[in-house]
Amino acid sequence: MANIMMLLDTSRCIACRACQVACKQWHSLPAEQTNFTGTYQNPPDLSGKNLTLIRFNEFLDKKGMPRWLFFIDRCRHCVTPRCKDACPDGVEITEEGFVVFNHEANPENCRIPMESACPYNIPRFNEDLDQYVKCDFCFDRFKPSAKPITMKNGGKPTTACELACPVGAIFTGDYRTVLGEAVNRLNELRSTYPNANIYFGGYGGIGHVIWLLAEEPTKYNLGTI
Ligand code: SF4
Ligand code: SF4
Ligand code: SF4
Repeated sequence: MANIMMLLDTSRCIACRACQVACKQWHSLPAEQTNFTGTYQNPPDLSGKNLTLIRFNEFLDKKGMPRWLFFIDRCRHCVTPRCKDACPDGVEITEEGFVVFNHEANPENCRIPMESACPYNIPRFNEDLDQYVKCDFCFDRFKPSAKPITMKNGGKPTTACELACPVGAIFTGDYRTVLGEAVNRLNELRSTYPNANIYFGGYGGIGHVIWLLAEEPTKYNLGTI
């Protein structure tokens, strides 16, 4: 199996949140009751029932007009995952490079505080499952046993969120293909957004998830780790 990567193109994202719903559906996670707090970001944060989240970042442009920048937040699938340092037996790296929690391998340690182990505060505790959860790159959809209904364009294995996204903001594939797609989209985007950039957010080097941003990372409240 190839080294798989995911491009999250925030410039295309329209914050429809179909990805959030598709992720819940694939992982059999229930809805959550939330309250309006003055932002359309909903739910307010990642949780044990929400493995991916569209973050709404507001800022004023040069003309003083308010703008939204959407950030598609989820596990970075780092090349050197700090979560694995915290729980070596319970965190696996698949041959595709996905970082997956394997609670069966280490059930007694399922309550290790993983939020603090991850530099990006990604894993969250699911009370119903009594374990930490996070985006698993839909690793089971990349297995040879995956059903055609989970695939895109008549046969490309893909994640539930990529299949659901109506604007092609999520793009997975062999890492060379994904990096090439990212560079092509960046060159196109820079004609409109001169500060556009590719954000490699994973810990320890280029991870298996990268982002295309229309503005500099600080406008998305992203750090430099
Ligand atoms: S982002 Fe956090 S949870 Fe995901 S692989 Fe990296 S350290 Fe682990
Ligand atoms: S890759 Fe799978 S687990 Fe990760 S956010 Fe998308 S649907 Fe959820
Ligand atoms: S489905 Fe696509 S466009 Fe809709 S919120 Fe998710 S990434 Fe953005």
